Amino acid sequence: MRVAVFDAHNDSLTEREDLNALAQRLNDGHWDLVRFAEGGGRWQIAAIFTPPRFSGVEALAHALHHLERALEWINQNRNKVRLVLRRSDLQDDGHIGILLSLEGASPLMGRVEFLRLFFRLGIRCLTLTWNHRNELADGVGVGEEAGGLTEAGRAIIAECERLGIAVDVSHLSERSFWSLMQVARKPVFASHSNFRAICDHPRNLTDAQAKVIAEKGGVVCLTFVPSFVGGDLTKFLNHYEHGVKLIGAKALGLGSDFDGCKDPVVPDASQFPQLANALRERGVSATDIRRLFHANLLRYFRSVLPS
Ligand SMILES: [Zn+2]
Repeated sequence: MRVAVFDAHNDSLTEREDLNALAQRLNDGHWDLVRFAEGGGRWQIAAIFTPPRFSGVEALAHALHHLERALEWINQNRNKVRLVLRRSDLQDDGHIGILLSLEGASPLMGRVEFLRLFFRLGIRCLTLTWNHRNELADGVGVGEEAGGLTEAGRAIIAECERLGIAVDVSHLSERSFWSLMQVARKPVFASHSNFRAICDHPRNLTDAQAKVIAEKGGVVCLTFVPSFVGGDLTKFLNHYEHGVKLIGAKALGLGSDFDGCKDPVVPDASQFPQLANALRERGVSATDIRRLFHANLLRYFRSVLPS
């Protein structure tokens, strides 16, 4: 069963050395334009990831370098892809819509004006942290000492909401997550996280976290990373079923983490139809599969992006 796909997270634009290669069908990695289109791909959130070894101006320089590469790639491939900047860019016109996200806010150096600049440069999602601490908050890797949002973090959240940048809670420590929930006025989403109730991994969400994301109108996007799934595709389906029981079919999406992990439970971007078939075999309705594959994320981004 082929269904249009809105994938909430991949790392291809940071991980690939030669972005031009992404226009061809590649034999390595998980994602390129040909395989994604084959799999039904229509919208892709592409991460500009900043590794933890960079901080301050080095983080900023790294992000700007990769953002420029990404924008140039989008421009070179404008017959196939379009950069999604506002709600109307989400319409399905035969192009693959690319939403650019900053994964880890260290390039912002805690400064609201840098967020505004990244917005002008096309960034429409902000994953507040990776696993370590940055100027805004603490990631899941910080452990017991993890704290809440910083003052700079609160100011940047308010500015994200004003501008129309989606706030992503994947990688956030629990304490930073709950601190964010106290100040967030707009819905937030988790771009690539599963359920701790099914696989007890710190990168996964507790039931309480998933519930509050859904109650506020956000989406939990399930990921194919084997260590967060805790098994193979069958186990992935257990995460989906748990999610439906907990928060309903209207609050779930997909966030592959293609090119950001090893051996994803869906092997590459051409294989989304196989996932749809597996869900069908478990008795999931075609309507709920469309919700999971794109409809919920479309609704979410139509509510968050600038008009
Ligand atoms: Zn990640």
